[in-house]
Amino acid sequence: MASVITAYKGVVIHSLRFGVLEVLESGLIGANAQGKIVYVHDLNKVPLASVQYDRLVDHGRKLLLPGFVDGHAHAPQYSFLGVGMHLPLLEWLNTYTFPHEAKFADLSYAKSMYTKAVKRHVANGTTTCSYFATVHLEASKALADIIQDVGQRGYVGKVNMDRNATPELTETTEESLANTQAFVDYVLAKKDDLVTPVITPRFVPSTTSTLMHGLAKISRKHSPPLPVQSHLSENKNEIAWVKELHPDCANYAQVYHKHGLLHERSYMAHCIWCGGDERALLQSTGTAMIHCPNSNFSLTSGVLNVRRSLREGIKVGLGTDVSAGYTTSMLDAVRNTVVASKLVAMGHGSGKEPADADEAPLSYAEAFHLATVGGAEALSLEDKVGNFVPGKELDMLVVDLTADDSPVDEYEHDDALHRFQKFLFVGDDRNITDVYVRGRQVHHR
Ligand SMILES: [Zn+2]
Repeated sequence: MASVITAYKGVVIHSLRFGVLEVLESGLIGANAQGKIVYVHDLNKVPLASVQYDRLVDHGRKLLLPGFVDGHAHAPQYSFLGVGMHLPLLEWLNTYTFPHEAKFADLSYAKSMYTKAVKRHVANGTTTCSYFATVHLEASKALADIIQDVGQRGYVGKVNMDRNATPELTETTEESLANTQAFVDYVLAKKDDLVTPVITPRFVPSTTSTLMHGLAKISRKHSPPLPVQSHLSENKNEIAWVKELHPDCANYAQVYHKHGLLHERSYMAHCIWCGGDERALLQSTGTAMIHCPNSNFSLTSGVLNVRRSLREGIKVGLGTDVSAGYTTSMLDAVRNTVVASKLVAMGHGSGKEPADADEAPLSYAEAFHLATVGGAEALSLEDKVGNFVPGKELDMLVVDLTADDSPVDEYEHDDALHRFQKFLFVGDDRNITDVYVRGRQVHHR
């Protein structure tokens, strides 16, 4: 028997290629019972009566958009979101992050905080999120459970730290590796395609060579390898520290590479100050950059030149970097990506090279592409999510600009693209009435 098809009617907008949006004023997306997209129709060309479906959900003039992919967020840091934005990275870590993360030794505290965090990300339209947990095994398992219960598509990693952390957060190398293996086994035993374990060394200064080698081994035991996420070249003091710790390596990226941690499923947050050699290494190993502009502004870290990285063939996704970035909203990541690109265009990019001043700023369509398709590519999910191409899975937002408490006003002169831009720049979670992951509704307001 053929699978039951649910058809969603509305104003469909998604990114086909970088900077190229498809807009269907009267669109219809069909998904089967497994949540796979089976067709996308333009009802101005194909009459509804000729389309096959078992159930029709008519969203009228509401926008149907692909869900956002947040490539970098720290779930435990949700507890102090918005606090400490006056400090640079290393001071911020010691003053706020480490004391707050130590609290996740308490499992019931962890469960309550992680539930709040995941639900908030989903309410903001993030259908796929890559999370750092903390060093704690049980709390990290709880985060994977909560992601699964809420129904989000989650990449999740137990953090590793066996040097330069506070005593409460410092693991022995053996314990760190054994608990990482236990975490990976636990998540894989779920046999749930929506929840993926990620190898998560916090950053080079907090992980010894032995630990990094061991983590690479755990990742590469699998085929394809398990994803690896970390931080790279975020802050100048951090980079100088890495140089001190690994004088034998030519640069920061080389440290990860030497330890086997850069491959086609690796993605690194920030990469602001990566030089040409490092970027070439990211490109040749298939490692993606996760651009987190709110965090980069908030911790006064610098401004990544995104267009140059894309031109060099590096995959780029966007991240909120909660809570070095002060919001769980990927709309904010889109806005700050546009703003950051304008700074680059005005000659204020980091790791400045002569061409920077000639860079054109990123358009809203390009930034939206990075927040959806770009993130999917960075997480090797491009065959599953990012846009509404048939064969992919239906991760979708229903956006109502006329919701009762909407922060946006729309007028008769606003066409679909105007309404889309208003949502991107002025809208918020009050406009996101429904969130679907793999065809299943996971949020409604
Ligand atoms: Zn981070």
